[in-house]
Amino acid sequence: MAEKNVLIIGGGAAGVKAALDRVNAGNKVFLVEDFPSIGGERIPQDRLITDGASFTAPDLGAVKENNGIQVIDSAEVRSLAGENGNFKAKVHRRTPRIDREKCNDCGECIKVCPIHMYDDYNESLEWRTAVDYFNSGSGNYNVFKEDMPVCQRTCPINLDIRTYVGYIADGKYAESLATIRKKLPFPLSIGRVCPHPCEFECNRGYKDEPISICFLKRYVADYEVYNEVEPPISLPEETYPEKIAIIGGGPSGLTCAYHLALLGYHNNITVFEALPACGGMFLVGIPEYRLPKAILAKDVEFIEKHGVEIKTGVRIGKDISYDDIRKDYDAVLLAVGAHLGMSMRVKNEDAEGVVEGVKYLRDAALGNEIPNKGSCIVVGGGNVAMDVARTSLRVGFDEVNLLYRRTRKEMPASPWEVDAAEHEGVKFHFLVAPQEVVVKGGKAVGMQCLKMELGEPDESGRRRPVPIEGSEFVMDADTIFAAIGQVTDASLVEEKHGFKIGRKFNFEVNPETFETNVEGVFASGDGATGAGIAIAACAGGKTAAESIHKYLRGKK
Ligand SMILES: Cc1cc2nc3c(=O)[nH]c(=O)nc-3n(C[C@H](O)[C@H](O)[C@H](O)COP(=O)(O)OP(=O)(O)OC[C@H]3O[C@@H](n4cnc5c(N)ncnc54)[C@H](O)[C@@H]3O)c2cc1C
Ligand code: SF4
Ligand code: SF4
Repeated sequence: MAEKNVLIIGGGAAGVKAALDRVNAGNKVFLVEDFPSIGGERIPQDRLITDGASFTAPDLGAVKENNGIQVIDSAEVRSLAGENGNFKAKVHRRTPRIDREKCNDCGECIKVCPIHMYDDYNESLEWRTAVDYFNSGSGNYNVFKEDMPVCQRTCPINLDIRTYVGYIADGKYAESLATIRKKLPFPLSIGRVCPHPCEFECNRGYKDEPISICFLKRYVADYEVYNEVEPPISLPEETYPEKIAIIGGGPSGLTCAYHLALLGYHNNITVFEALPACGGMFLVGIPEYRLPKAILAKDVEFIEKHGVEIKTGVRIGKDISYDDIRKDYDAVLLAVGAHLGMSMRVKNEDAEGVVEGVKYLRDAALGNEIPNKGSCIVVGGGNVAMDVARTSLRVGFDEVNLLYRRTRKEMPASPWEVDAAEHEGVKFHFLVAPQEVVVKGGKAVGMQCLKMELGEPDESGRRRPVPIEGSEFVMDADTIFAAIGQVTDASLVEEKHGFKIGRKFNFEVNPETFETNVEGVFASGDGATGAGIAIAACAGGKTAAESIHKYLRGKK
């Protein structure tokens, strides 16, 4: 019988026993274990009845000595495909922190390691160092360390926060900015608007307060601008001939263009943008008072200088057909965002005076005529609703009422945005749902509302708003803004092109590679994932660039 390869995932007691059984039955065995050693998790001392040696030590010795078993430790199976008799596994192995060829088992590192942490194997009653000697049976020394600090892991683009913040502490601002730009070409913009999920996880918060990761990024980026330093441009010498079209010049499309340039495709990348300028929602969503357009323009200029051609005022699907783009380019990225406001699903929604929140912000940003008089109602509890409400106050409305059907605690908007809106004079009405637009002479004059109370949590984990019967009331308004979410306008492609379109009219992608189901076409940002935050859109653009590179090189 031909020798068969057997993959065993998990090197605990059961995995070790299975490995020995299979090798004794004549198979070649690959034993993949997440820990640096096999034998399972170390048993805490309070449950040990021996001197610390593993219970399964004899089996571990047998595994170690058996040439038919290849132990792949510090590793995880990332994917498994195929069928019985013909599986293919993708295994990711972390770089060992100790060179096992050189380690002679003297144990000195345990004593001299300067990092002291609670000993989790002894109920945290004592200290141990960061060197972990997992298991005396299969013993491998390991420096206990996460793959990256928690802040970096939380940042969608995995910025090397520790390094860039450390450089700032040393006064090395140029080095700090260069560290950020290895991944992110938008430090000025992101440094102003990122909701900084990283800071909520920062370990320093346990001691006093989190490191101000976001504004430190803004600080180094602003330092370059205010000192009139020309940002350094560095492009690889090796270049590739393939042409790439990027549809959509928002954070995702432009981050993709930047990384493609760094990979060697500069002067072969064209960004097509429907609006008169690039920036996407940075330009026409986020208002000027949070992200000045002149600041955004500097980030865009930096990207353009990397050999990225930008064609503005060109809507694909209208000015140029999608088919022509496919004909002329070797790979395509769809980074079209989510620019269509969602319906409130209330009666008379199409009356004059009812306006989509995102359209209103876009018109305000582009200098188009917008409603600005009397009182208005903003429906929604997210950041877009806050931007609509705060913009309304700025352009001249006397009174801005915001309706949200849950309480302040459940609002998806960033708390600092809610505080700012309240501080500026927006009137919040919680536990109120819109029911029907009140119309007079074809024009909206108010909203009939219903009071709510909170019931059981729904699938999002937030408590479901339940209507209170007979609690209807009317709130007067000259203009009503709907700011309850956005979906993608995917009309640049047609059914015949065969794209899988998701629930929010987004282009469905492989979440690891951002490939669509159509060969050679990738999609990233809000138009692929649904409306999210900008840094996630940038992260998607970066991954898409890496995938496009692999696709184009793999073709050769
Ligand atoms: C009002 C508002 C406030 C926000 N505030 C924040 C915030 O404070 N912090 C944060 O992190 N995120 C915020 N976001 C979210 C963030 O702006 C988005 O997640 C991000 O811009 C998405 O980037 P993107 O490149 O995927 O899409 P977009 O930024 O939407 O860019 C897509 C681009 O594609 C262009 N396009 C579309 N179709 C075509 C076509 N057929 N041909 C050519 N061009 C086309 C569009 O004109 C647009 O410029 C906010 C969003 C909104 C709406
Ligand atoms: S981009 Fe946002 S999440 Fe990432 S480090 Fe900066 S503030 Fe944190
Ligand atoms: S202290 Fe905060 S910012 Fe610094 S590495 Fe730790 S988690 Fe990251």
